[in-house]
Amino acid sequence: MELTSLKCKHLVVKIASRCNLNCSYCYMYNMGDNTYKNQPKFMSKTVIVKLIEAVAVHCEEHDLNEFTFVFHGGEPLLASQDLYRFFVHQALTVLLPNVQPNFKLQTNGMLITKAWCELFEELNIGVGISLDGNKKENDLYRLDHKGRGSFDAIMKGYNIAQKLLPNKPGIVTFINIGSDPLDTYEFLKSIDIEYVDFILPDATHDTPKWASLFDTPTPYADWLIKIFDIWFYEKGKKPKIRFFETIILLLLGRVNDDGNDALGGGNHQVLVIETDGGIEPIDSLKVCGDGFTKIKTNVLQDKISDAFEKELAELCNLSHKLLCKKCMICPVKDICGGGYLAHRFSKESGFNNPSIYCNDLLKLITRIQNAVFAEIPGSILEENHLKPVYYHQALEMVEYGEKYSEEPEWSNYLELFGSKSKENV
Ligand code: SF4
Ligand code: SF4
Repeated sequence: MELTSLKCKHLVVKIASRCNLNCSYCYMYNMGDNTYKNQPKFMSKTVIVKLIEAVAVHCEEHDLNEFTFVFHGGEPLLASQDLYRFFVHQALTVLLPNVQPNFKLQTNGMLITKAWCELFEELNIGVGISLDGNKKENDLYRLDHKGRGSFDAIMKGYNIAQKLLPNKPGIVTFINIGSDPLDTYEFLKSIDIEYVDFILPDATHDTPKWASLFDTPTPYADWLIKIFDIWFYEKGKKPKIRFFETIILLLLGRVNDDGNDALGGGNHQVLVIETDGGIEPIDSLKVCGDGFTKIKTNVLQDKISDAFEKELAELCNLSHKLLCKKCMICPVKDICGGGYLAHRFSKESGFNNPSIYCNDLLKLITRIQNAVFAEIPGSILEENHLKPVYYHQALEMVEYGEKYSEEPEWSNYLELFGSKSKENV
């Protein structure tokens, strides 16, 4: 692997390691990783100073003139406003004029007040809020530590942010296939959202607990397609839906090299900084096991690039390129990119697997492709060698290809993380 080309353009900054919610599906607290218990509750100013120095060095090494910090948790609003002022001031002082820092924040919204909105505006921090649909849908899994629903408190914070912030908050919604997708979509439109990202629940081949609750092979695709079929043909104002728009842009030939961990063929240029300064690959990998993301690098003594010398961070960066045999022959490989890395994991064969959502991804992507290509004149499709692939055709192609093609040269590398490889040592 050519490590010098690997770089990070976005850092997920765990400014707080605890949360005021206890969502059933949370990969931080409820999917088998307990390392948060050993983390300081908040990032210290010493870690912040070192972190920004490390980013300055990294940007210089890789000739980057822009860098994004995403404040995350736990719940990032449990940290003090003073800590945000210190962070942003430090970043602007150290990075400008060579590097333009951008700031985003992902919150559960429960603690948003007028004072927080003033701070977001003052520090130019873009805000995303997690909300899983209407009260009934949201309060199924987004619960507090006493098992009570969070919808009312989230909506209170959301309404304040919606009213006061010049850039309206985006919404992140966990896909709850037990709900009616059209109810969810109508609800999100009724609260005037401009942007939503639908998220597949995090699970691995050993723990696909959400998918196994339903007896159809493609429950997530079926749920999303119901929304897509309305959204795509809808005239007038409608929200931007990241999942669909990313697929459409990839179908039209856009290469995403901006750190998209879900789709496409680009490098995933994101790392996580824990509250103690630990540098880690993307945090959804915590579903693979207790301590799985601990790669023993820390901004207090290491460079950001040092993380890419650890196999897990390197694989995470190249996750849309180092695919298993089935993905390599898949007709939608360049759009799907094997999906999220965590969803390919099994204790036995590491990451040498397709996604647990393989059939869902294949069905959703082919459906979107068919709809988009139907809007393009046949002569243009022909000139650009674009031919629609239908779901059942695609399914046969991957099943046939998996049987008769060779393992890619990096299969052993993907298996390094599984027990099969350890048995062969
Ligand atoms: S709000 Fe986010 S960090 Fe907190 S428990 Fe829910 S999913 Fe986890
Ligand atoms: S649809 Fe399935 S086989 Fe195709 S790239 Fe995605 S995970 Fe791999």
